[in-house]
Amino acid sequence: MKIEIQGLNKIYPNGNHALKDINLEFGTGMFGLLGPNGAGKSSLMRILVTLMKPTSGIVLIDGKDIQKHRKELREMLGYLPQDFRFFTSLRTWEFLDYSGSLAGLKNRKERLSEVDRLLDQVGLLEVRDRQANKLSGGMKRRLGIAQALIGNPRIIVVDEPTTGLDPDERIRFRNILSQLSQNDVTIILSTHIVGDISSTCQGMALLNKGELVFSGSPENLVKQAEGHVFKLTLTPYEYEKVKEQYDVISTIPIDTGWEVQIVSEEVPVYNPVSIIPNIEHAYVYYMEHKLHADMID
Ligand code: ADP
Repeated sequence: MKIEIQGLNKIYPNGNHALKDINLEFGTGMFGLLGPNGAGKSSLMRILVTLMKPTSGIVLIDGKDIQKHRKELREMLGYLPQDFRFFTSLRTWEFLDYSGSLAGLKNRKERLSEVDRLLDQVGLLEVRDRQANKLSGGMKRRLGIAQALIGNPRIIVVDEPTTGLDPDERIRFRNILSQLSQNDVTIILSTHIVGDISSTCQGMALLNKGELVFSGSPENLVKQAEGHVFKLTLTPYEYEKVKEQYDVISTIPIDTGWEVQIVSEEVPVYNPVSIIPNIEHAYVYYMEHKLHADMID
């Protein structure tokens, strides 16, 4: 499968320019869309699932314009919106059964077996008879993904699925997605949490203020930060100075003061030890330094 986004712009009626000439291309597997709040992620997602029209530009799926093939696209699509909520007294399995009917699963026996297969996959089989609105926040989100998965979609769009989840649930959710991504489906995941973009994402894009500022593999993003991440061992006095001067990523107290990790364009003083960047370092480096420098150029 190939998804091509060409010259996409979204200007809301109030003049907000939420997407600015976005060009992107990706295929089967997991694709991560990362950016701070307000970057334009949800706007892009809503266009991808044809809930909203772009102001200009097109999206092609295997060469077909999604605006002209909406019905066809919706049949192969599963969507978990950012504000997925259900106010229902239905039991967990009944809710999913209902979603299955909407997704076009007509045969009741097959649908019920699909419901239980999916509840098992997202770890909710034990609570299948509980009222859906009495599930915990993390469980509701997992029911949300099950609802997006019913009917065997080939494209799964999940918008900020881990917001508000505790770390355990976040890891669990990420594992569910990475297992899915091995099934020859395309998963588009949007998030403002850098840790959600794992090595399971074959491709990723970074959005900032409606602009696409990076697209490539997570490894490529990390490469950009090589030689710009340092560990410093500091006295409390030095630490105060460093905090003002650099982007501090982490701070660990030690006997003599602090051990900190910083991201910096230049090699700092204070006996720096260069360290191998991870994706969080790379994100900070890219947003704070590279982007800033590019804009000045
Ligand atoms: P993200 O999902 O990355 O937080 P959004 O796509 O929700 O970003 O928003 C991008 C920009 O568009 C923001 O400035 C936001 O305020 C604006 N925006 C989003 N939805 C609307 C809307 N319905 N009307 C006007 N502006 C909007």
